[in-house]
Amino acid sequence: SMEKLLAEALVRDVPDFPKPGILFKDITPVLQDYDALRQVIDKMTEQSRPLKVDVVVGIEARGFIFGAPLALELEVGFVPLRKLGKLPYNRLVEEYALEYGTNTVEIHTDSIKPGQRVLIVDDVLATGGTAAAAARLVERAGGQVAGLCFLIELDFLEGRKALENYPIISLIRYQ
Ligand code: 5GP
Repeated sequence: SMEKLLAEALVRDVPDFPKPGILFKDITPVLQDYDALRQVIDKMTEQSRPLKVDVVVGIEARGFIFGAPLALELEVGFVPLRKLGKLPYNRLVEEYALEYGTNTVEIHTDSIKPGQRVLIVDDVLATGGTAAAAARLVERAGGQVAGLCFLIELDFLEGRKALENYPIISLIRYQ
């Protein structure tokens, strides 16, 4: 639509976070503003509706903030995908490479029913490493990745290339 996305004016650039040389997109001002947050959830709902999802998977931690209200709007359940050691029950584990070292994410083995169509949600798509690991976990858990949804996509990091087979929704893109 022609309507302006309120969140766009609220995302804040923070230099040198979490490390020197990184320009971090801070989304907390979007969360503080009811109209902006409401509009983000409405747009995510509208754009993900055609994907006919059965369940939403949110990536820890900011993927939880958008994922749970989106799941409610889509009238489906919510599944948390968490960092190593946070989930209490039986888990599937996926490790992925970072610039320096590795990261590990986990999902409960019984969180997704065979063949369920899953929407993976996070705040930012950067290099795509996290989202690709999430997609592998969802598939190993027996789900089908219906698509991925982000508030922000950093185009110059080419995260889409790590996710080439899946539909991607992103509300704000930076070149
Ligand atoms: P990737 O694995 O795509 O390189 O990084 C994405 C993950 O790191 C996401 O979970 C996202 O929350 C976080 N992330 C990376 N860069 C930023 C950023 O500039 N702002 C925010 N809010 N999160 C980021």
